[in-house]
Amino acid sequence: MYDYLVVGSGLFGSVFAYEAAKRGKRVKVIDKRPHIGGNIYTEEIEGINVHKYGAHIFHTNDKRIWEYINGFVEFNRYTNSPVANYKGEIYNLPFNMNTFNKLWGVITPADAKKKIEEQKASYHIEKPQNLEEQAISLIGPDVYEKLVKGYTEKQWGRKATELPSFIIRRLPVRYTYDNNYFNDKYQGIPIGGYTKIIEKMLESELIDVELNTDFFMNKDQYLAEFPKIVYTGMIDQFFDYQYGVLEYRSLKFETEVIEEENYQGNAVVNYTDAETPYTRIIEHKHFEFGTQSKTVITKEYPKQWKKGDEPYYPMNDDKNNELYKQYKELASSYQNIIFGGRLGMYKYFDMHQVIAAALTAVEKEFA
Ligand SMILES: Cc1cc2nc3c(=O)[nH]c(=O)nc-3n(C[C@H](O)[C@H](O)[C@H](O)COP(=O)(O)OP(=O)(O)OC[C@H]3O[C@@H](n4cnc5c(N)ncnc54)[C@H](O)[C@@H]3O)c2cc1C
Repeated sequence: MYDYLVVGSGLFGSVFAYEAAKRGKRVKVIDKRPHIGGNIYTEEIEGINVHKYGAHIFHTNDKRIWEYINGFVEFNRYTNSPVANYKGEIYNLPFNMNTFNKLWGVITPADAKKKIEEQKASYHIEKPQNLEEQAISLIGPDVYEKLVKGYTEKQWGRKATELPSFIIRRLPVRYTYDNNYFNDKYQGIPIGGYTKIIEKMLESELIDVELNTDFFMNKDQYLAEFPKIVYTGMIDQFFDYQYGVLEYRSLKFETEVIEEENYQGNAVVNYTDAETPYTRIIEHKHFEFGTQSKTVITKEYPKQWKKGDEPYYPMNDDKNNELYKQYKELASSYQNIIFGGRLGMYKYFDMHQVIAAALTAVEKEFA
């Protein structure tokens, strides 16, 4: 009856289902969660679109992807300009002239460059042995202490001196008074929330969606019944972890409604000191310039991942990449299964990248 089973209604699975239906194919989409959209899911609370799985800002340099996503929903002009709160001191991110002016009172780019060079020189680090040394060698001690150290240690759950230097290959520094976090040509937030995009993608009558349905409850039956499967769950789980478990970083979200119109004046505030247990607070209404009388905030806590937890960020270190290679090799012998998305390909994808990856899979499938 169906041409495809799509496991996972996130962006990868939904783009694939949409494109398959456009070509007249019948598709069944299942998801173990009670809603569509995977991690880009937004839920309306007090008239505000709440990003349930962390702040999502769409940004890309790829005109084709920008036009593709705009075919489903209109985007607003939101520009990501997070601020850092270090023990009550506020600094602009990414590191730019506003940040340097606040830190040292410097006015011109030349003065800022001179100050950073002086700071770096005072430490004489030639071959950084850990993340702390790497960061200081790139940006100097002041920026490191106030804006990098505490945040990074909370994120990784380890001291910066115990973290490998390669985690921070570079720290973007901008010698202009520009608080726009991304360098991409296009960015914004879908008006009405991300869930709307997925609803549009899955609205064809050739697509049936079944929620609260875990692939592994009926794996053998699905494999026998469907001619082709697009699988966007964890690749190691598909193979019953036979080579070992791929690792992730996880997160915990605490969301609350606040009887106040404007809680922090910005969508994203990073807490860069070590004492505050969360890494950031998101105030969702600011993504869409909301004027509601109440507000909704989410505190984001980094969390060690263990099997069974929600896997957010693949740990793409050498050990895990090697393990993934083994699974990928095994997956290549399954001709009727496409492994896709951040869990199926064990790779951190931004949204524009996951759309591009899904469209590549589509092109290959329907060539
Ligand atoms: C905290 C955070 C912030 C982010 N911020 C941004 C941002 O600002 N900008 C940006 O571009 N990108 C951002 N991203 C990345 C973005 O979330 C991903 O690019 C995108 O969600 C990936 O889509 P996907 O379809 O690969 O995976 P997912 O969205 O994870 O979808 C996979 C789906 O498969 C389902 N599934 C898994 N296993 C099974 C199973 N066994 N049976 C049935 N269903 C199953 C899951 O429930 C899920 O719905 C962020 C990611 C995180 C974690």
